[in-house]
Amino acid sequence: MRAAISDIDKAAGVLRAGGLVAIPTETVYGLGANVEDVAAVARVFQVKGRPPSHPLIVHIGSAEQLGEWVTVVPDTARLLAERFWPGPLTLVLRRGPRVPLEATGGLETVAVRVPDHSMALALLSAFGGGVAAPSANRFGSVSPTTADHVRAELGDAVDFVLDGGPCQVGLESTIVDATSETPSILRPGGVTREELEAALGSQVSVGSTSRVRVPGQHPSHYAPRARVVLVEPEALLTEVELAQEAGHRVGVILPPSLADAPVKTHAVVAVPRSMAAYARRLYGFLRDLDQLGCDLIVASLPPEEGLGLAIANRLRRAAGPRSTT
Ligand code: AMP
Ligand code: MG
Repeated sequence: MRAAISDIDKAAGVLRAGGLVAIPTETVYGLGANVEDVAAVARVFQVKGRPPSHPLIVHIGSAEQLGEWVTVVPDTARLLAERFWPGPLTLVLRRGPRVPLEATGGLETVAVRVPDHSMALALLSAFGGGVAAPSANRFGSVSPTTADHVRAELGDAVDFVLDGGPCQVGLESTIVDATSETPSILRPGGVTREELEAALGSQVSVGSTSRVRVPGQHPSHYAPRARVVLVEPEALLTEVELAQEAGHRVGVILPPSLADAPVKTHAVVAVPRSMAAYARRLYGFLRDLDQLGCDLIVASLPPEEGLGLAIANRLRRAAGPRSTT
């Protein structure tokens, strides 16, 4: 989808004036602000209801600009940027002086990426600076993958919504700690562990081995209103039956292995066989099941390889314990 030039100019003007723009990317829609404008950055946290200690990702227009935002670019970070940008890979590096601590939750590191979407790139080029953009949803809820999701959830709190159609990856970026020469995955996402390992020629670990602090990785996140329960595929039909007997309005995310199973329940969505298609539609499924009035969603985890690693991560966190406050 192509935006009229005037839309891009208008969005760039809103950013320059300290406003907030909803930006289409290949991962999810972002809620963007000029990263160097601390008042605009503060509004992002306020609109999302996000604790200020949770750092934002800074979006830039090209890999060549990376040096403007970080103090050191290790060789491996350079290699990853050249291989995967524009694309769903976020690199955590040492924060340069142009990035205010307000955007990094007080950390001396900053997360940076170049999004792979023509409209986002046109906006970054017209604006010229860095755009701090977390997902354009309220804190803890499901990330938006269409402009309508953003309008429905944030409404007038956003000054301008750029409609770039449905997001093509549909899940957030892979976040990699690239501060050292042995990068590790802090959050799985649109670039797979296997792709990173092929690019680096070495194994890449996932999780907490990194020295950098990773705030904002709460167990409950990416969550629909309905409670999410994860079960093994063999136990899924029984779980659904029991939950219905207990009076729940059950939504089922039906794995491919059960595609022909006779499920009688409030709502059913079938998992596509392609992992890329599943990633693209996962958040839409969660939103749809909420919309249909389900109070319980039963799902199984996909095999945790390729994009399955990120899908399983989001499903686990959607099913994570919720705060009652
Ligand atoms: P969101 O924008 O909500 O999709 O999430 C951005 C996520 O990026 C945060 O929740 C952090 O986990 C991660 N992140 C951003 N900046 C940093 C950083 N400097 N160090 C580690 N993780 C970061
Ligand atoms: Mg988010």
